[in-house]
Amino acid sequence: MFLSSRAKDTQASITLKVNEKINKLLQEGKYVYNMTSGQLPFKPNHTFKEQIQSQLNFLKSYQYGPVSGFKKLREKFLTHKLTTRRIESGQINLECIISNGSKHSIYNALGATINPGDEVIILSPYWVSYPEMIKFWGGLPIVVQTQAFDNFTPYIEDIKKVISPRTKAIIVNSPNNPCGIHYTKEWMQEFGKFMLEHEEILILSDEVYGDIYYFDPSPEYFYQYYPELLNRTLIIDGISKSLASTGLRVGYCIGDKKIIKAMSKIQSQTTSGPNSLIQKALIDYNLEHRDNFLAPIREQLRESARLIREEFREAGLSHCYYQTTSAFYYLLDFSRMPCFEKYGHEIEDQSTTIVNDILDKTGVALVPGTAFGHKNSARMSLTLEAAPLKEALGKLVDYLSRK
Ligand code: PLP
Repeated sequence: MFLSSRAKDTQASITLKVNEKINKLLQEGKYVYNMTSGQLPFKPNHTFKEQIQSQLNFLKSYQYGPVSGFKKLREKFLTHKLTTRRIESGQINLECIISNGSKHSIYNALGATINPGDEVIILSPYWVSYPEMIKFWGGLPIVVQTQAFDNFTPYIEDIKKVISPRTKAIIVNSPNNPCGIHYTKEWMQEFGKFMLEHEEILILSDEVYGDIYYFDPSPEYFYQYYPELLNRTLIIDGISKSLASTGLRVGYCIGDKKIIKAMSKIQSQTTSGPNSLIQKALIDYNLEHRDNFLAPIREQLRESARLIREEFREAGLSHCYYQTTSAFYYLLDFSRMPCFEKYGHEIEDQSTTIVNDILDKTGVALVPGTAFGHKNSARMSLTLEAAPLKEALGKLVDYLSRK
């Protein structure tokens, strides 16, 4: 009776439920190939760890820092983003705010811009937290569907169809969780051109996987072709994925000064500034080092993606396969697999049933696609090492290819 309607309306994370089941199986002594992970199984590189150690002896590392983050780090992230995206600085009036992870940045960004009843367009399959965060601030998530055979890339025409007088924002996530693809340069150009016609729409560009790609061409962004869009683009990024530091909770948002100021106001009355120790370590860390750190990770992901293709081909499932290029996920579309025949078509979305069956029969744990807004699918993480990955894929593909 004490619970607010806001709390009741917020969906618990689907991975919690999956993890409960995994833990139960592990307690029963069963072997589980856990392919649900949303993080890289590596420690960050030693230069970053050394910077953290070198900050341990300073009093300020343990004290409140500025609400929006240390100025030096805000400037560093801003310069880094503009340089890597080849945008001339000074062109646009941009600011950076650092938050407790990029999820927190997205939450503040929506809080600073969304009024109750505003619509926010999200492109399915989407990251699980977008709809919940939009709803939390009183907004309405409006979903644009995509298909596996289009490499999960939305048609601009489909986005056009859902734009209404209440549309306030659109979220673009490239590279994408859960599909493991990034939209092409051509798509970004077309999208940018289209957005020029819609001055009233704010764009959230979630780039947390921007550095995690293993096939060229590397991800590009609409504002690189139309820098004038930066006036109403909020770029989200952080260290969780590119520095394998999900638990350190540092993310940031770059955007128009007025919006960043509003986000800072929200942050000042909720969490205050982010982790001082880690920010100070990042001020002295050379962000260029992450490329050396990521090189073997990219190699491993490329190999994992190749393995999936092989396994699908050997099982005669090539027609169900699509090529991933980035992030560390693959989205299995069950509706195109032989195993789907035994589930029938009466129930619209059987993701959870199928994922539970796969876990019981093969020991492979996946995340049901329902949470990502894609029916009859599941997300598979590519973060297992080669040997267990090969074993898991063998069992999984065997299940998928049987009627
Ligand atoms: N955006 C996407 C697409 C994600 O997949 C995640 C985490 O999995 C985040 C944002 C949030 O990352 P963090 O809050 O750890 O920086």
